Amino acid sequence: MMELTGICREYVVGAETVHALDHVDVRIGAGEYVSIMGPSGSGKSTLLNVLGLLDRPTGGTYRLQGEDVSHLDDDALAAHRQRHIGFIFQFFHLIPRLTALENVELPLVLAGAAPRARRERAAAILESVGLKARLGHRPDQLSGGERQRVAIGRAIIMQPSYLLADEPTGNLDTRSGGEIMQILEQLNRDGIAVLIVTHDPAIGERARRHLKLRDGKIVADLGEK
Ligand code: ADP
Ligand code: MG
Repeated sequence: MMELTGICREYVVGAETVHALDHVDVRIGAGEYVSIMGPSGSGKSTLLNVLGLLDRPTGGTYRLQGEDVSHLDDDALAAHRQRHIGFIFQFFHLIPRLTALENVELPLVLAGAAPRARRERAAAILESVGLKARLGHRPDQLSGGERQRVAIGRAIIMQPSYLLADEPTGNLDTRSGGEIMQILEQLNRDGIAVLIVTHDPAIGERARRHLKLRDGKIVADLGEK
């Protein structure tokens, strides 16, 4: 369970304070499939980054799997992230000089897994996302849809409970975007909670629960809880 209570994220810019998140209360349970929509600047990325432990709230409480993670230092946040959370981004954020296989196995390298075991696991994951024939390709030798599939592989190799996706189809053509959605939905059927930020209503509709943000506040929360 991800449980936010009174979460605020303020940015001070010069003399102004931006309330990117303004007292957000929400709980997201294991295995949910949630879309997060709202106008540009409404706080979608900030919310996902806080939920994904890439950013710290400036106020409120965040309990992740029962533990208060609101005030942890960077190392502790990284440890929780490694254990619970996978993240994918609109622009993939792969490491350019590493192959698809090396990008996917990277989290296992950092976790200290043995070379052979991590290579086999990364290869199996890439095969499961349809990239068996691309293991040795670097990101610049892959299409956008293929890069996003590599990014998904990297995001799930540590078997997270939550997969967070910030506009994962925003940089893809419709067909590649559809393939990415099918992969995310299969992972959700396998039990991973999927949270997706999108401004595409057709994609947002596919989720079972729909959060709407405006001015840093959740203004609608519809569907299955
Ligand atoms: P969205 O993803 O919905 O487009 P964001 O979460 O990126 O919105 O941003 C929410 C608000 O916070 C916006 O007003 C944005 O300008 C502001 N913001 C985001 N990041 C920063 C930052 N690093 N410094 C200052 N303001 C920021
Ligand atoms: Mg955003």
